[in-house]
Amino acid sequence: MSGSTLRGVAAAPGVAIAPPWRAPEPVARAAGTLVHGLAESSKRAAVELNGLSARLQAVGRNEEAEIFEAQAMMASDPELLDVAAVLEAEGTPADSAILAAGDQAADVLAAIDDELLAARAADVRDVAARIARIMRGEEPPSLDRRSIAVAVDLPPSVTAELDPALLAGIALEAGSRTAHAAILARALEIPAVVGTAGLLAAVEGATQIAVDGERGEVFVEPDAAQRADIDGRAAADAERRAADAAMHDRPLATANGQRIMIAANIGGPDESARAIEAGAEGVGLFRTEFMFMGRATAPDEATQTAAYASVLSAFGERPVVIRLIDLGGDKGLPYLPLPPEENPFLGVRALRLADAGHTDLIVTQLRAILAAGERTGRVPWIMAPMVADLADVHRLHELVGMASAGRELSVRPSVGIMVEIPSVALIADLVAPEVDFFSIGTNDLTQYLLAADRTNPALADRQDPMHPAVLRTIRQVVEGGHAHGIPVAVCGEMAGDPSGAMALAGLGIDELSMDAGAFGGVKRAVASATREQLADAVARAMAVERAGDARTIFDELRGAAPAT
Ligand code: PEP
Ligand code: MG
Repeated sequence: MSGSTLRGVAAAPGVAIAPPWRAPEPVARAAGTLVHGLAESSKRAAVELNGLSARLQAVGRNEEAEIFEAQAMMASDPELLDVAAVLEAEGTPADSAILAAGDQAADVLAAIDDELLAARAADVRDVAARIARIMRGEEPPSLDRRSIAVAVDLPPSVTAELDPALLAGIALEAGSRTAHAAILARALEIPAVVGTAGLLAAVEGATQIAVDGERGEVFVEPDAAQRADIDGRAAADAERRAADAAMHDRPLATANGQRIMIAANIGGPDESARAIEAGAEGVGLFRTEFMFMGRATAPDEATQTAAYASVLSAFGERPVVIRLIDLGGDKGLPYLPLPPEENPFLGVRALRLADAGHTDLIVTQLRAILAAGERTGRVPWIMAPMVADLADVHRLHELVGMASAGRELSVRPSVGIMVEIPSVALIADLVAPEVDFFSIGTNDLTQYLLAADRTNPALADRQDPMHPAVLRTIRQVVEGGHAHGIPVAVCGEMAGDPSGAMALAGLGIDELSMDAGAFGGVKRAVASATREQLADAVARAMAVERAGDARTIFDELRGAAPAT
């Protein structure tokens, strides 16, 4: 096939052109001679995995490093190794035995209807394949020239193992934007397209392919005209990155100097340094639930206090918003027994856990936050997710009261809520006098307003917060908050999207909180227009037919070529 273009899902921005490199299948065929036994191979696998984790940690990629730390633990898991040993004793070749044990463990996890556990299933298979490879004395996969990796799916361990200087891009037949492979590609800044139907058949025998991770396109044997187009896109991409980087020391402000606070979303204390280096004026969202995942029991009060105090002292005078755990629903934990639910996003989640037999979990967290405030002398900003109405707000204050009972507090916390359920957005004016701040969670607000499950790729087009219904709802929240003198922030993904940030600036939002990697692009977009131009554009965007039309308004305002 010459000059063909395939469409997939845009997973990590950037453009690359290079020969394809067919990544090895995760589970290789049965081999002949085995050079290492099970025990030795599992030990070596753990060493390799810890090495990968350390490499990622050294470049500040702590979240991704944790994937491999967890895999290293799996490689020494006695349960996995026992099953393999039994199969081996029964006559199965050792490499097939560990692969079968990995499949068994993965099947158990995959059978549970839980996105996180399903991802763990892929990890177990990945670990078993690594042990089998070591048994066979095979080297880890490696590149000998600059290439675009092509596969059905690419286990994170393979991606991380490849030399980033040679891995120009990734194209996968399977996967979604939230798959591990996609998350890792974004973290390593490698252009990636996933979910590309017919990819492997199309690239068979090809000498050159190209990926555009912004538009979700894969070109097979691009012809001269396509190559010129791709080169143009690559040059524009490099220019964009350089222009974003040049904004480092500038504040977030409109063209006529109206300042908006810029803050970082973080998932743990180890992300503070990267956020501060990028110029974060605070933390707008500390997603604390990550600290509760991948462990056998909840972190105790002392462990939590240390984590919160670390972030509070790292940011000094700058505000740090600590969100109470957003667990339950689709984010289950082995130590958090909850009945199965038909609609987990509408279920017993987050603050609702306090009324479902888990009051202690929330009160312990609140005690730890208050203790961190006392220890550092900094005001902790406490934020509750999934607040639906005034009753929830009152319950939140009651829980804070329970946590502070019997304590002399020298530092009063600031107590606010996420506005992510439409009901609370509609009564923002009633709720504002009862809290210290609002932070709008546009990810959930969009899925609830538009009845479009945020995890369903078939509804990707419907999950756009630029929809006029979402913009109008945000306007109402800003009005409700400001009428009572409280600040209104946005901490959903919309804040880190250049067009989204422009719309939010036009709506009068006080603070935008996002992944620190998005700061440059957002500053540049907001600086391209005056406050009045942004307000005028958002007024027009609130009356269009679909979200894409609203995006075009902002693309045109900042002179960007709209994505085709
Ligand atoms: C949101 O819903 O917009 C949000 C920031 O929270 P999360 O993505 O963690 O649900
Ligand atoms: Mg949310």
